[in-house]
Amino acid sequence: MNIEKLYKESCIWFVTGSQHLYGDDIFSKINENSAQICTTLNNSEKIPVKIIYKSLLTDAGQITQLMHEANSDETCVGIIMWMHTFSPAKMWISGLTKAQKPLLHLHTQFNRDLPFETIDMDFMNLNQSAHGDREFGFINTRLGINREVVAGHYTEDGVQQNIGNWSRVAVAWKDSQQTKVARFGDNMRNVAVTEGDKIEAQIRFGYRVDGFGVGDLTEYVDAVTAAEAEELIEEYQSRYSIDARLLKGGDEHASLIYAARQERGIENFLNEGGYSSFTTTFEDLHGLDQLPGLACQRLMEKGFGFGAEGDWKTAALLHTAKVIAFGNDNGTSFMEDYTYHLEPSNQIVLGAHMLEICPSIAMQKPAITIQPLGIGGKNPPVRMIFDTAPGKAINASLIDLGNRFRLIVNNVAAVEPRDLPNLPVARVLLKPEPDLKTSTTAWILAGGAHHTVFTKSVTNEQFCMFARMAGIEIITIDQNTDLNQFRTTLKLNEIYHGLQTLF
Ligand code: MN
Repeated sequence: MNIEKLYKESCIWFVTGSQHLYGDDIFSKINENSAQICTTLNNSEKIPVKIIYKSLLTDAGQITQLMHEANSDETCVGIIMWMHTFSPAKMWISGLTKAQKPLLHLHTQFNRDLPFETIDMDFMNLNQSAHGDREFGFINTRLGINREVVAGHYTEDGVQQNIGNWSRVAVAWKDSQQTKVARFGDNMRNVAVTEGDKIEAQIRFGYRVDGFGVGDLTEYVDAVTAAEAEELIEEYQSRYSIDARLLKGGDEHASLIYAARQERGIENFLNEGGYSSFTTTFEDLHGLDQLPGLACQRLMEKGFGFGAEGDWKTAALLHTAKVIAFGNDNGTSFMEDYTYHLEPSNQIVLGAHMLEICPSIAMQKPAITIQPLGIGGKNPPVRMIFDTAPGKAINASLIDLGNRFRLIVNNVAAVEPRDLPNLPVARVLLKPEPDLKTSTTAWILAGGAHHTVFTKSVTNEQFCMFARMAGIEIITIDQNTDLNQFRTTLKLNEIYHGLQTLF
């Protein structure tokens, strides 16, 4: 799994629509202007994916041909479309109905300002985005085409940020089509929300979910040599502080060696099978000496998706979030809303898990230690402990409602950590928007899970874009959430998505 390579091998095509009405002389100007827009966008730090000016499209044949080429081009993750002039939209019908790549309609204009002193009919013939993009927008809406619309001058920071955000989601969308989740063991027995329709997940997102007996994994863990484990431990020593009992000569050193073997064993298994996400369950540890804690934390840090207790939906979504955040990640982790602080003036959630929180959200050097777990009946597991720095974040949960997937996204803020000397797990203290009572009421009405993807980098809007690409339901809980409106939204969505299944 190599997210950097994925970005390097991805590009976005930029196409400009026009027509033959204005004489061919205008085409060289359109090409020149389009290329300049692409150069400006490529020079923006906000856009991490290369944009290629692909072509000027002036008739239905060219448009259809372009869409076929995009569909079969492995490197093309999305198409940006812009109408410099009017481009009668019936000629887009054939192409748009065949488009399979994510689409972004950029409603911009080449010139920022009107040249009031010199404007003439030549200028009017060339600079027609204001009406050309509306004609194009109409046919997209008439056809029910899923797309993003970004409006504003292409030099604006906000416009470039929107394009950049979308480009990351487009890369993640390409990645999700090849995301494979390895499940070691099944679901935690009797748990409902972590279940779901794996066929539908593959149809909707491309996520492929494969089950393995934990014995298949044990072989890989046992095959890791002591020397390989020691090599990993050296890396741990360079990056984390380690409880002296776990170091060479300490009475728990064997446990750290075993945790390192778990990390390398799981990683080997995942890499050999092309898996970018995985789940474990403490109810099925046959042949493993301890529940993988440190191993899961380290593998999340490397970009793998993870879900505990067999939670494959959260595992896959976490990997998707890590792809979206790549290169700009302030922390993206598996999380659970664990327990509350309900002081009336300061209501917050303590987010944590038994062990498996990603150190990408750590605010200080993580401390590796060992503590008994209390459940699972195995040896005490090794884990990293740390706090999370204050800052804006998102909690996201993907659930299966039986007739559809729903993605629930809550804007939250990590708040100043507190000293928790007896709590031997990584954690975050967070305050959800608009307030804890409204947020949790809405979350529970929407059916949101206790497991989430917690991220300080992927935005609410990016999760919405991803949901739109997948054609699934998206529910947002933020500062503006009003519970009466929220209940109405849930009902309206029920009707909309119910009707979708009829057509
Ligand atoms: Mn859990």
